[in-house]
Amino acid sequence: MINRQAALEILNANADSLPNLIEQAYQLRTKYKGNRVSIQLLTNVRSGNCTQNCAYCAQSRDSAAPIEKYRYVEDKKLYGDNDLVDEMHLARHCIGLSGIRFADDDIEKLAERIRKMKKNDTQICCSIGFPTEKQALILKEAGLNRINHNLKKTLFKVADSIFASGYLTEGGQSLEETFRTIEAAGFTWQVESESSH
Ligand code: SF4
Repeated sequence: MINRQAALEILNANADSLPNLIEQAYQLRTKYKGNRVSIQLLTNVRSGNCTQNCAYCAQSRDSAAPIEKYRYVEDKKLYGDNDLVDEMHLARHCIGLSGIRFADDDIEKLAERIRKMKKNDTQICCSIGFPTEKQALILKEAGLNRINHNLKKTLFKVADSIFASGYLTEGGQSLEETFRTIEAAGFTWQVESESSH
């Protein structure tokens, strides 16, 4: 477990420390995962035009990165990617949406697409920002396996301080409430180092 102090030290580490950090990360990986890797395919279901300003993200409202921007990816691309996950026996199909809050209608449409992609029981995870309890339950019922987030519930204190500049404050539920909401819907957690949202 990395405490707040250690997290700050890592963030503020100078370039000379990088080889040592990489070595320690390598030791952790080999200890827990050996030399096995699992391959996931990521489809960007909604791209760009985010209201948020996460400094690392090309989809941020402040980013000038030349990325493709669209409200919803075409069915052909989404279902084609899902078929590829099945055909290649990949570990998961991860779907990511830019933004942090969604209308119930959007979630219903996404749930419908998830139902179709679950025909072969594909493992599907989703980066979906801050869903409400109702929305998390809709996605769970549709068969979504996991909700991705780059903040872990056990890192609330660190998250609140370090990532506070990442998410703009728009009211609504807090990070902690969001984690509880998602857990209450029966999801397990996937903590990604570079996940959106
Ligand atoms: S990480 Fe997510 S919330 Fe932050 S700017 Fe990118 S898409 Fe928006």
